[in-house]
Amino acid sequence: MVIEGKELSKIYGSGENRVVALDKASLIITPGDLISIMGPSGSGKSTLLHLLSGLDRPTSGTLTYDGKDIYSLSDKELSAFRRRRVGFIFQQFHLLPVLTARENIIMPLLLDKRQPDEGYLEHLTELLGISDRLSHLPHELSGGQQQRVAIARALITKPDVIFADEPTGNLDSKSGGEVMELLKTVGEDTGKALVVITHDSRVAAMARRRFTIVDGVLSEVTEG
Ligand code: ADP
Ligand code: MG
Repeated sequence: MVIEGKELSKIYGSGENRVVALDKASLIITPGDLISIMGPSGSGKSTLLHLLSGLDRPTSGTLTYDGKDIYSLSDKELSAFRRRRVGFIFQQFHLLPVLTARENIIMPLLLDKRQPDEGYLEHLTELLGISDRLSHLPHELSGGQQQRVAIARALITKPDVIFADEPTGNLDSKSGGEVMELLKTVGEDTGKALVVITHDSRVAAMARRRFTIVDGVLSEVTEG
């Protein structure tokens, strides 16, 4: 799956309230890519992530997944597309408090009326070190464990790409480092492309391709 965003712009408001949240961002994501996008608060990171994942539509610009124009889909088609092809990881984990870890992980499949592949579930939870926590409720887990449950939930549908918005933002630096290592391992293990937004330079440095974003302008960091 090759994802190509071309000159994506997002403008909010008009007149005095006009904000150019994203200014002609272009980016190609190929299978197995591990990409970090770093920038200060308000620089347009989440806006870019929402556009690349089809959570939102741009003011101008195009987005294709294997040549298919994603924004030409209806809202209904777009949400089905996201549910099947895209995985999300958020800073706040967004686990449902009344569901166990296992129930949280398989929720995206249930929403799509699909049953979990038990072998894959077992593989993922072992890889993430949470196999013995599956019957726990979120509040019975540490922050790092909750984020690992959220990672398994993002992967259970076998998406083509995972987008993570500040996945280590609510964790201390030790569990943040562990979660990032796990994300890398999972990316390598499954061959998925992984796009991680962060304002932590140590997290950003773990990616193979690094981008920065300042005032809505995206640029790739090249070595040397
Ligand atoms: P980041 O994730 O890097 O902190 P965002 O992408 O959330 O930044 O926001 C980029 C800019 O766009 C900010 O100036 C923010 O205030 C503005 N913005 C984001 N969402 C909206 C919205 N729904 N309406 C108006 N302005 C917005
Ligand atoms: Mg943000």
